[in-house]
Amino acid sequence: MKKILSLLLLIGSFTYAQNNFPKNYFSNPLDIKMILSGSFGELRSNHFHSGLDIKTQQREGMPVYAPADGYVSRIKVSHYGYGKALYILHPNGYTTVYGHLRSYAGEIEKHVKETQYAKESFEIELFPDKNFLAVKKGDLIAYTGNTGGSGGPHLHYEIRDASQRPINPLHFGIDIPDSKAPLLMGVFAYTVDEDGHVNQSQNRTKLRLIKQKDGTYKTEGIKAYGKIGFGVTTYDQFDGASNKNGSYRIQTNFNGSEKFEVTFDKFSFSETRYLNRYIDYEYFETNKSRIQKLFREKNNPLSVITYEDDNGYVTVKDSLHSIYTISINDLKGNTTFVTIPIEGAKMDILDPKNNKVTDDYINADHATSITKGKFSIYIPANSLYEDTYLDIRADGDTLIFHEDIVPIHTNITLSADISSYREEDKDKLYLGRLNTKGEPYYTSTSRNGDKLVAKTRTFGKYIIASDTIPPEIEPVNFSEDKWISNENFLKIKIKDDLSGISSYRATINGKFILTEYDYKSDVLVYNFNDNVNLETENNLKLIVIDNVGNSATFETKFFRKHP
Ligand SMILES: [Zn+2]
Repeated sequence: MKKILSLLLLIGSFTYAQNNFPKNYFSNPLDIKMILSGSFGELRSNHFHSGLDIKTQQREGMPVYAPADGYVSRIKVSHYGYGKALYILHPNGYTTVYGHLRSYAGEIEKHVKETQYAKESFEIELFPDKNFLAVKKGDLIAYTGNTGGSGGPHLHYEIRDASQRPINPLHFGIDIPDSKAPLLMGVFAYTVDEDGHVNQSQNRTKLRLIKQKDGTYKTEGIKAYGKIGFGVTTYDQFDGASNKNGSYRIQTNFNGSEKFEVTFDKFSFSETRYLNRYIDYEYFETNKSRIQKLFREKNNPLSVITYEDDNGYVTVKDSLHSIYTISINDLKGNTTFVTIPIEGAKMDILDPKNNKVTDDYINADHATSITKGKFSIYIPANSLYEDTYLDIRADGDTLIFHEDIVPIHTNITLSADISSYREEDKDKLYLGRLNTKGEPYYTSTSRNGDKLVAKTRTFGKYIIASDTIPPEIEPVNFSEDKWISNENFLKIKIKDDLSGISSYRATINGKFILTEYDYKSDVLVYNFNDNVNLETENNLKLIVIDNVGNSATFETKFFRKHP
């Protein structure tokens, strides 16, 4: 057995370098040592991570340099997601992408600002013509930041191929020291057949791990029967960083022959949401830990599955002993190895599959319409990955719409009848999903006569909520009617209690000023360097509107020395 194992490990480490990506084409976009807080393919909320997260020493404003010649092919400024993002197309066909930037540099920044002022909008998306904004290797192109859905200062760095598929940037000659094998947190077994079991259970079974002297793992021996599959919780760490990153490759074997392999080399954005099918979604929602299922179920088209035999399942026969192994690898070839001894035994099932039977059985292949009290629900075909019993109940203005333990792939439409509300109240209504604090979190809602219509990809408790309170506006670094000559920025806090901020517009002396909204800190910032129509005495006006249309206006005078 030992011999076979070491042979397998050897074969495993040979397959890594097999790719034709250019190794010395792209230089480090930052002039600091590359330390990562996030890896390619890492499991995130509703997606696989599409690039590297490069640490920036807990600071913003680090210069970003073009890693190769090219031109700016796309610029996107958004409140959410990548925040301020820059795309550079290189002559070799690859595009490099930079996310969560604080600002752009030079001509790029100038072009962005001009467009924002021309469109009177912070959020913009541009596709500049070839060579309009050409860059040379080493040119300063941007400054790192923390904009959009970023939880701390870092640079999101991505390399895409000509089909806009993100590729693992570590294939391009970036060397990140990694001397430790991936960490194994848990191994789980799943059953498929009606008379199948693992240790007489048909539900997810966690297997006890036993660390061996040679550093590999063994699980407790299991008794099983029928078609079964396995899953793992694992993460990898680079040297000198404590972040829990994704493992590069997982391979499984059954009695010496390969069963399944998942590899994080590349994927396409159209498939990234299938992560919710790949992981055990219920386990994640309940335990906040992602089990990777080492088998392909129906409605899982993921291309990161790079090998499969019988979809990765194994069939255990009565009275036969078998060995199932899992090897988890990082890109440096460090391997964590697990052996699962299986004894075939047809036995009584003590813990049958717990399918909560309800009135609403959804056939995933077909569209389904359901009405409950004031609510009607439309579930398109293939919105769910598999046929599922849903628990749906209406109680007055509340809709219990199952639980967030089942993933939704494409939008489900919820509508609520609001004809019983007073006419003047109807405008302030929206559909909210109750969060853990019991607050109705705004779900993008439109009004169609006496119906509220919302689209959602999350199960949970929904209510017809009402927001009658306009947003709050409060200056942060200045007082009304005062001198503010020494400040470089105007900072104003804007907040809305229920439905949330939808739009805002600020002017000085009647002229639009560009304000940047950071939803994480609720702060709007104006940069005095924009130099808009400033006098000694200035009138600032800010209008903020929430998602149901409640509007707040803030007006003040301020004084400022100007040249
Ligand atoms: Zn990232």
